[in-house]
Amino acid sequence: MDDLQELYQEVVLDHNRSPRNFRKLEEANRSAEGFNPLCGDQITLYLEVDDDDKIKGIGFQAMGCAISKASASMMTDAVKGLSVKDAENVFDNFRHMLTSEEYDAEILGDAEILSGVSRYPARIKCAVLSWHTLKSALDGNHDQRVTSE
Ligand code: ZN
Repeated sequence: MDDLQELYQEVVLDHNRSPRNFRKLEEANRSAEGFNPLCGDQITLYLEVDDDDKIKGIGFQAMGCAISKASASMMTDAVKGLSVKDAENVFDNFRHMLTSEEYDAEILGDAEILSGVSRYPARIKCAVLSWHTLKSALDGNHDQRVTSE
């Protein structure tokens, strides 16, 4: 696991220690659960999408490794306040980053720090879990269970 050390950069550690939007969102009108069986990471994501299709509120609860938790924290920061369409665009860019395709670093915010994860296939599942869970919630699936792959 030593080669993972470089992944645990300051930003990852900070998001893991004090995750942003780490709470159950009582006013949520969409939610989804994600599970990564390889690592044991779990996340429940809550979204409040308003009548204009904007992500007014977002919150999550999670158990798992530092990367899965930090990635979820970064994801909530990156998409909060965006329209559903823009959030899906951020999701696409994050996915492209991890599959070494072209992506727009600008809109990813802190999440760009996770680009190094693409070199560790087993860790990609940890990093994308919350994003797939977001996609599932955005697709309007209520209480949907997704498994990262
Ligand atoms: Zn993990």
